Amino acid sequence: MRLSVVLAAWLSFIGAQAYTLGPVQKPVAARTHRLKLVDTPLKPLLSENASVIFPIDDDWDALQIRGTSPRIHPNFVVVVEPATEEDVQKTVQYASELGLPFLAVSGSHGWTKTLNNIPYGIQINMRKLNSITLDSSGTTATVGGGTLQWELNRALYARNKQTGALRGAGHNFGIVTSVELKVYDIPSNWTLSTFIYSSDKLEAVLDLVNKIDSDATRSPNLPLILYSISYQGPKPEADPYFAQFEAIGPLTVKPATNVNNVDIYKLTQNSLDSVACTRNRSSMGSGTSLPLWNTTAARAAFDIFTNLTADPRFSQSVFLLENYGMQGVQAVDPGSTSLSLEERQYPAVANPTIWWNGSAALGQADAEAYGEQIRQALFSGLPEGAKKHTYVNYAVGTEHFNQMYGYDTTRVQSLKALKKVYDPNDRFGYYNPVPLV
Ligand SMILES: Cc1cc2nc3c(=O)[nH]c(=O)nc-3n(C[C@H](O)[C@H](O)[C@H](O)COP(=O)(O)OP(=O)(O)OC[C@H]3O[C@@H](n4cnc5c(N)ncnc54)[C@H](O)[C@@H]3O)c2cc1C
Repeated sequence: MRLSVVLAAWLSFIGAQAYTLGPVQKPVAARTHRLKLVDTPLKPLLSENASVIFPIDDDWDALQIRGTSPRIHPNFVVVVEPATEEDVQKTVQYASELGLPFLAVSGSHGWTKTLNNIPYGIQINMRKLNSITLDSSGTTATVGGGTLQWELNRALYARNKQTGALRGAGHNFGIVTSVELKVYDIPSNWTLSTFIYSSDKLEAVLDLVNKIDSDATRSPNLPLILYSISYQGPKPEADPYFAQFEAIGPLTVKPATNVNNVDIYKLTQNSLDSVACTRNRSSMGSGTSLPLWNTTAARAAFDIFTNLTADPRFSQSVFLLENYGMQGVQAVDPGSTSLSLEERQYPAVANPTIWWNGSAALGQADAEAYGEQIRQALFSGLPEGAKKHTYVNYAVGTEHFNQMYGYDTTRVQSLKALKKVYDPNDRFGYYNPVPLV
C-alpha cells in the first residue's frame, strides 16, 4: 500500500509555458559549424540508426528541454542518440579519447543541480534504446536502458504483468543499456480513496499514518491536505483503512474501485498530463526522509509551506508527504548492499515541490531558502540520535554526501571502493556524485 499526502495550494494548475533556452547554448551554436567539422569522425563509428545532433540542427532545442529546465540545464555541445549497446560503448570510448565529459539522459527528470556541472559535453540520449521484451515463460522482461517507466508499465499491463521494486541502481557507476527484470502477474486491480481535509487536520492525519505504519473547509488562504490511499486489492479489504481516515472528518472523499495499473496514475495525479510530468518549468524539492511523522515538526514545516504558497510566485507548489511500505526493503540483507541504512529505517518521505514561472534565477534563491527551512523544520522533530537523511532521487544538489549516502563508515567505504573499481576516472560524476576519496 502506498500512502501519500499532497498539501496542495491549488487543486488545478495552469499549463506550463515554454521557455527559450538559456544563454549558455547561444554562443555555442555560433561555433557549431566548426564543431561539426571537427566531430564528423564520430558518426561513422555508430550504427545506421544512431544520430548525432548539433546546436544548429532542428532537433537540438527539443533535446535540451528537461523536466525542470531552465533551472536544470546540463551544458552540452552535441547530442548522440545511440541505437545499439555498441553505439553507447563507441560514444563513451570516443569521449574518453578526446577527454570530453558526457552524460546519459533518459527521462530527463533528474533534478539535482549537480547536473548543471557538466562543462560542455556529450549528451548520450538513451531514448532509442527503448525496448521491452517479455520472455516466453512470462517471468522476466528485458528492458532497454532508455525505456521510461510509464512505457514499461503500459507494455506489461497489456500482458497482465507488473514489476516489483528495483534494488540497487544509482547514477554514478556506468550506463545501463538493458536490464532484465522479474515480472509478476497483476494480483488484482486497485481500490483508491482520496480524502481532502482542511489544514487543521494535519496532526490527526499524520498521527493516523504513524499508527497504521507502525502496524506493518477549505479556507481561501490555506493549503488543503489531499490524502490518497492506493490499495492493491478489492474494496472490502481496503475499507478498514479508509474508515479510519473518514473518521477524521475530510471535506470530501473521492472513492474509486476496480482501478487498473494504467488508470491509477491518473487518479493519483501522476499521469503523463499531470503537473508532476510537466516539462520545461523550473521546480525543485527539498527531500527529507523521516522514521515517522513528528506532528509538531510537521506543523512548523506546514506553516512555512503556507507562507510559501501565499507568495504569488510559488502559489502552485505542493508538499508531498509519502509513506512507503518497508517489508520488502527490510527483507534484503543489509550486508548485501552499500545503501544508506536510513533507507531501510525511514518509511516517511517529505518533499515540498516548489514550482515557479520564468527564468531559473528569478525564484531559485528564495525557493532554496524556503525548501531548506521546511526541511530543517522537519528534521527538528527527529528522535534523539536519528540522522538527517535525504533519498538520493529527491536530493537537489545542496545536500551533504552523508545525508544522501549514509553515515555508517563501513558502508560508505564500500560504496567509495566500488566507485574506484567501476569509475576510477570519475566519468560518471554529475548526479549527486560519490567522491573517489
Ligand atoms: C516532478 C518530479 C517528480 C519526481 N518524482 C520522483 C519520485 O516519485 N520518485 C523518485 O525516485 N524520483 C522522483 N523524481 C526524481 C527523478 O525521477 C530521478 O532523478 C530519476 O533519476 C530521473 O530519471 P530520468 O531517466 O527521468 O532522468 P535523467 O535526468 O535522464 O537521468 C537522471 C540521472 O540518471 C542517469 N541516467 C539516465 N539514463 C541512464 C542509463 N540508462 N544508465 C545509467 N544512468 C542513466 C543520468 O546520467 C543522470 O545522472 C522526480 C523528479 C521530478 C522532476
